[in-house]
Amino acid sequence: MKSIKKPITSILNKQVLVLNQNYHPLLICTAKRAISLAFLGKVKVVENYKQRVSSPSLTINLPSVVKLDKFVNVRNNKIVLSRKNILKRDQHQCQYCLKTGVPMTIDHIIPKEKKGPDSWENLVACCHKCNIKKGNRNLEQSEMKLIRKPKQPTRIHYIRQFVKRDQSSWKPYLYMGNKELRAIA
Ligand SMILES: [Zn+2]
Repeated sequence: MKSIKKPITSILNKQVLVLNQNYHPLLICTAKRAISLAFLGKVKVVENYKQRVSSPSLTINLPSVVKLDKFVNVRNNKIVLSRKNILKRDQHQCQYCLKTGVPMTIDHIIPKEKKGPDSWENLVACCHKCNIKKGNRNLEQSEMKLIRKPKQPTRIHYIRQFVKRDQSSWKPYLYMGNKELRAIA
């Protein structure tokens, strides 16, 4: 194993999306792990990268998405409600004007003064300009619109952070459109 050259190692370290038996995204592992699980019959390869990997005896397509053969029951670990996680969920994009790449703040959709709670449904990433514009008003009064309804992030939101351009094969399983993929590429 010591003789494995760097390019092969880096290919084998490529990230692979692991789906549950019902196609729900579960986690990410390395291609090396995915290949060995496939050989053991524990996963089925669903999608491949363009690259192939060769050993002296065989050449195979490099898997990009695999699916578990047996369903595993996983508890949906709750993600902590924090400024950092709100920004992550909203991909550092102002949820009013779509701006990215500018300093972000957190907006209470229903203002705190109007008893708006600190919750996944009431907090969104917001640029300073929109935050000032909205001020202490709620949505109707400010006549501002959210680009999407904020929700508690799921495992899918978490995994979405890891999607890179050459992982476009993951996106149907993460319910991502082209627009969302470009935003994080
Ligand atoms: Zn904005």
